Amino acid sequence: MKLQLSCVVQGRSRLGVLKGLGRTGQHSLEVPGCLLHTQLGTVPHLTQDTLHTMSNLPSVSQVTLSHIAEHQEALEEFKDGFRKFAGLHDTVLYCSLHDPATPCPTGHTTSKTVSVWGSGGRIELTVAKFMALQKTVQPDWYQSMADGETWPKNTSRKRVRKSVDRSLAHLDECLLVHHKSQELESVEVFGVVEGGDILEERLRSARETAKRPVAGFCLDGLQTGCMDQALRTQLITAVTTELPEDKPRLLQGVGRPDEVLACVEAGVDLFESFFPFQVTERGCALSFSFHISPELAVPALDEERDTAGEALQNGDLSLDDQTQMTSFEINLKDERYRDDFRPVVEGCGCYCCKNHQRAYLHHLLVTNEMLAGVLLMIHNTTHYHAFFGALREALANDEMDLLKRRVLGERKD
Ligand SMILES: [Zn+2]
Repeated sequence: MKLQLSCVVQGRSRLGVLKGLGRTGQHSLEVPGCLLHTQLGTVPHLTQDTLHTMSNLPSVSQVTLSHIAEHQEALEEFKDGFRKFAGLHDTVLYCSLHDPATPCPTGHTTSKTVSVWGSGGRIELTVAKFMALQKTVQPDWYQSMADGETWPKNTSRKRVRKSVDRSLAHLDECLLVHHKSQELESVEVFGVVEGGDILEERLRSARETAKRPVAGFCLDGLQTGCMDQALRTQLITAVTTELPEDKPRLLQGVGRPDEVLACVEAGVDLFESFFPFQVTERGCALSFSFHISPELAVPALDEERDTAGEALQNGDLSLDDQTQMTSFEINLKDERYRDDFRPVVEGCGCYCCKNHQRAYLHHLLVTNEMLAGVLLMIHNTTHYHAFFGALREALANDEMDLLKRRVLGERKD
């Protein structure tokens, strides 16, 4: 894995390509970019056939031990690794500990173990079990075992310090097993930077992790909902200063477009793409504009936002507790779409927008048809990854301010 940066904008935002991915090194991933979020190797709602009809998807699929751990025995028996088990062929496999789309209960880590939750309940992992799983999964790249339980509000300084110490100890143990293992010879490890909301612990974690032979870094404990963006930006800016320039930084648990933009400006390279899945699950469709040229901008967006509810400011969470809906999406279950015969997003090239109208999606949603999830996932995935394309283009053309105005809805031009 080799990161080639083509430019660094305003000292922080990095544009480049992560090259040499996969066992034979033939894959690459553009940064800033995101991984393809999957559950057990499958993008929720979509078959492999459908996925292959979609363009501009990332070459790296993310699988998580929270989904895989309970299938360890079957995978060990199968022997050929998770990629073949799940019928995946031409993809790079990245294995993380937790699923960013599923909240993880706290209070179950010890100095020697972390826990993941599968459909059958909690599974406790020691480093030995964690590494046995990696040997069975045979990913191209995985995150080291880490204690990330610092995100609940009011976590004590002592607990944060403990999480940094434990994560470094887990990393050292993982690397020891990794380097002795033939099965993991060409596999890369990412170290995990912890430290909660305490700057000096973040810096210590970053400095110490950077001393280890890791291919890149996961920034954990900064996910949406556990701190505001100003603090997140401050911490990431400080942490990335301590990390080597030539290794990628993957931010866990952040997917909202406004937060992605701010985190790229703080020096993040990679994200997890669970956001379009969450939007789909609440029956919504991404509809925010990211086209810089005015003729391609989403025409109806301002009107949507005006009528989407007074509580919704651009980028703010809804005050309605029933939903985590953001202003980057429209709720197609709403009665107003019953006779709206426009596509979800005018000009979107996805299968859903080319073939169906909002009214049809509204009908599928209110009648609980499975096709609703399929069509929404096709649109949301396409829209989200196109946003990352626009982000890279804006960086290359020095138009980040324009893109930010477009995405955040502050159109002054
Ligand atoms: Zn679409």
